[in-house]
Amino acid sequence: MSKFWSPFVSTLVPYVPGEQPKLTKLIKLNTNENPYGPSPKALAAMRAGLTDDLRLYPDPNSDLLKQAVATYYGVQPNQVFLGNGSDEVLAHVFNALLRHDKPLLFPDISYSFYPVYCGLYGIEFDAIALDEQFQICVEDYARPNGGIIFPNPNAPTGCLLALDAVEQMVTANPDSVVVVDEAYIDFGGETAISLVDRFPNLLVTQTVSKSRSLAGLRVGLAVGHPDLIEALERVKNSFNSYPLDRLAILGATAAFEDRQYFERTCKAVIDSREVLIKQLEAKGFEVLPSAANFIFARHPQHDAAGLAARLREQGVIVRHFKQERIAQFLRISIGTPEHNQALVDGLGDL
Ligand code: PMP
Repeated sequence: MSKFWSPFVSTLVPYVPGEQPKLTKLIKLNTNENPYGPSPKALAAMRAGLTDDLRLYPDPNSDLLKQAVATYYGVQPNQVFLGNGSDEVLAHVFNALLRHDKPLLFPDISYSFYPVYCGLYGIEFDAIALDEQFQICVEDYARPNGGIIFPNPNAPTGCLLALDAVEQMVTANPDSVVVVDEAYIDFGGETAISLVDRFPNLLVTQTVSKSRSLAGLRVGLAVGHPDLIEALERVKNSFNSYPLDRLAILGATAAFEDRQYFERTCKAVIDSREVLIKQLEAKGFEVLPSAANFIFARHPQHDAAGLAARLREQGVIVRHFKQERIAQFLRISIGTPEHNQALVDGLGDL
């Protein structure tokens, strides 16, 4: 606290990201990164971009990448918005589309950045409880609201809301923007981007951080009706005209163009997820059904914080949240088969 702060700074409760340890020997299963590197074509495109052109500002509209994303999803470039990671895209979404008088709705167990953005922009919210099975119930969102947002698959549960239920949510709330945060959709879900041409109130966000293994590049995107995109562009161009640098535009474009590598690595993650779930269930864990590159698991006889500490001693880090309803769960990112085996071995005999 300092007398130089703007008054509202002391009211902020910032997001706390998962640990990025300096010790390189640790096996990181705590922040849902992809264990397989980015597409070699993405790396080559960025190497080719290391030229004197870096003295010039990048294209403020990132047209090359907008076109690649539009082609990939079969939409028009004016239906695509880009930002510095989907976190930045979400920040602009909260400001441009979810800042209304009525409360914003999102699940009580959900991405913990949502309440942080609400604090930043002064948005009232109602956290809607997931059901006993940790699922989103569309009927529970039938109440006055200034917008709805949820991750699909949800984080940190990994549970998927089927596409027809997403459509129900969008249909039932024609006067609000419904934002589907699809950071993890490529690991087992079906994107709602197929619905955007029919629903002007639907916005879908995605990222290259997970399924395209480019968390270090910071590129996220939103797809929706051009009117929604225009609102986002207005906020973006009142904040930072150049959120994507030259290398990010080149790397992310090449990543979207390399479907083969993308499909192969997603499949590898999905396959090892299914193996890991069986191994953990054999040890007595209850694992929620996951369509993501992580699983959410609890052991009826062992305290989650204790298990996380035990794993850390074995050189494996996983994520534990203190929030009451999920305090007995561990969120475990899917690694390579070797990483996953180290996790299973690190748990020892339960
Ligand atoms: N949405 C969800 C649900 C997430 O878990 C994350 C990753 N922490 C993000 C969005 C943001 O990812 P990024 O900024 O790397 O695109």
